[in-house]
Amino acid sequence: MTVLERFLKYVRVETTSCEAVDCCPSTPGQKILGAMLAEELRGMGIADVEMDEHGYVYASIPAIGPADQPAIGLIAHMDTSDGVKGPTDPQITRHYDGGAIHLKNGTVIDGFDFLPGLAGMDLVVTAGDSVLGADDKAGVAEIMTLCEKMTVPDAPNHGKICIAFTPDEEIGRGADLFDVQRFGADFAYTVDGGALGELEYECFNAASCKVTVRGVNIHPGSAKNQMKNASLIAMEFAGMLPAWERPEHTEGYEGFYHLTGMQGDEETAELHYILRDHDARKFDERKETVQHIGTYLNAKYGEGTVSVELRDSYRNMREIVEQYPEILERAQKAFLDSGVEPVVQPIRGGTDGARLSFMGLPCPNLSTGGYNFHGRKELIPVQAMEKMTEVLYRLVKGE
Ligand SMILES: [Zn+2]
Repeated sequence: MTVLERFLKYVRVETTSCEAVDCCPSTPGQKILGAMLAEELRGMGIADVEMDEHGYVYASIPAIGPADQPAIGLIAHMDTSDGVKGPTDPQITRHYDGGAIHLKNGTVIDGFDFLPGLAGMDLVVTAGDSVLGADDKAGVAEIMTLCEKMTVPDAPNHGKICIAFTPDEEIGRGADLFDVQRFGADFAYTVDGGALGELEYECFNAASCKVTVRGVNIHPGSAKNQMKNASLIAMEFAGMLPAWERPEHTEGYEGFYHLTGMQGDEETAELHYILRDHDARKFDERKETVQHIGTYLNAKYGEGTVSVELRDSYRNMREIVEQYPEILERAQKAFLDSGVEPVVQPIRGGTDGARLSFMGLPCPNLSTGGYNFHGRKELIPVQAMEKMTEVLYRLVKGE
């Protein structure tokens, strides 16, 4: 089966994950895809295949050749974003002309800088009704196609290849129940990035922050010198954070404070923030800043008026991954040998690989070749998936 045939098969399975559901996997379709992948892997003659009760699929291909080759892991997630719920009926635009793409339901893909560069390729697009699911079924299809290439009788030398397909990445839980021991790799790569050549090993340091304001309410007619309006104090808190350090004004390595929700009346008010920064020192300063504002407002309005609760979410995997430069060099070489210029860039978010890196499995992220993830204008060139399969082949291949 080609990487395209696999991709078209996988995107037709509905695997949208759901944050409101507590169990894992959060939606039953993920196990349907998981079972399909496990069966396909067994069909390739791989003996060590297992889907556990939570839908994690593990498999390994034994090493061929010298005993000192590293065990390399490859990981992709099976769920898709609930941005626009899938699945779609995928369409192929053959020999794309570089212009506007008209989707089946009338949606038009146009005006993206990367489009002219894809001219001449065959693009898989949606019917305009949902996400495509290239994030991350392109990663799944590329890894599966690699497995096929590594299980044929004349497969090249390679170390042990460890494969995992995980559930619920899009709702931030993909690493929660990942069994690093069972997986058995020395290091791994998530295949879950965008444009061909992306190599990512830096992500944000992340925390959430809940600000609770307790005011004093009293009839407005007799409120003079008595009322402390919690909503107004919350607004004062928000106003003391730098307006230019918000997601809508930052890029690259610039961190931010992001107000994700607020509610309040005179009596109580709440603000919900997420804090993000690649730089660990600046990240700590952000946490200190919100606490300082709380302290200042308590001095002004009375102790106990404002409370600030901080909770760390994930950390920048750079501090782990850069201890093993050979992992990055290996990926860069695989890209270059395949004729693809590697593009190293910081992720403005987190990845399961970041969590796995702190669980003892160094795990940078590689491109899948796709664009416009999480929306109905998502697309991926067939040639990018083929090229990425070649990159993975060079990545795991031994001398
Ligand atoms: Zn993804």
